[in-house]
Amino acid sequence: MITHHPHSNTLVEFSSGTLPVAHSVCVSTHLDHCSECRSKLAKLDDLGGAMLENGTAESVSSSVFDAVMLRLDEVSPEPAANDATAASLSSMVKKIRSGATADLNWRRVTKSLRIASLGDVPGASEVSVYHISEGGKIPQHNHSGTEMTLVLSGGFSDETGIYHAGDFLVREAGDIHAPTALPGGDCICLAVLESPLKFTRWHYRWLNPLLQLRAG
Ligand SMILES: [Zn+2]
Repeated sequence: MITHHPHSNTLVEFSSGTLPVAHSVCVSTHLDHCSECRSKLAKLDDLGGAMLENGTAESVSSSVFDAVMLRLDEVSPEPAANDATAASLSSMVKKIRSGATADLNWRRVTKSLRIASLGDVPGASEVSVYHISEGGKIPQHNHSGTEMTLVLSGGFSDETGIYHAGDFLVREAGDIHAPTALPGGDCICLAVLESPLKFTRWHYRWLNPLLQLRAG
């Protein structure tokens, strides 16, 4: 049962095509699980289509038009390249959801935590898969930037709630938490970080350079 959904603003950005690639893959994977968000998105798509149909060039001043075009250039410099990246990332995520994780480039961080990077993706500083063994705990850490997480299989709990496959969550800069995988199976999550996370407890700080985490 999915209880954690993307914010409406995130769905608006997804619908308008302005959400960065890795974030879009998180949202589309959530949509595979969630009929509630699929129907919200269908309404947003209809609304966007109606606005495009009803809008006329004459009703928009040239300065506003230029500003919009500039914004579109900023958010999507190479749409074709982004489409190819999104397709390749989506197919990687599908494979991982089906259980094919052996050929990922895993780094063991603690006894119960492994992390595999999915490579460079435009608009994100890090896109990774987290594998927490059943019942295992991730050391307490904080976030120096926004992190979007989608549970791909299993589940975890932390100070704020319990998350199962398909659940979607966002951590903001400064949030501190220590997730623990639920019993019943290993937990696998897709994480899109704007800035890498930092461990806060002194006895885990040695992990920071190991994870190539950024200071600051
Ligand atoms: Zn949803």
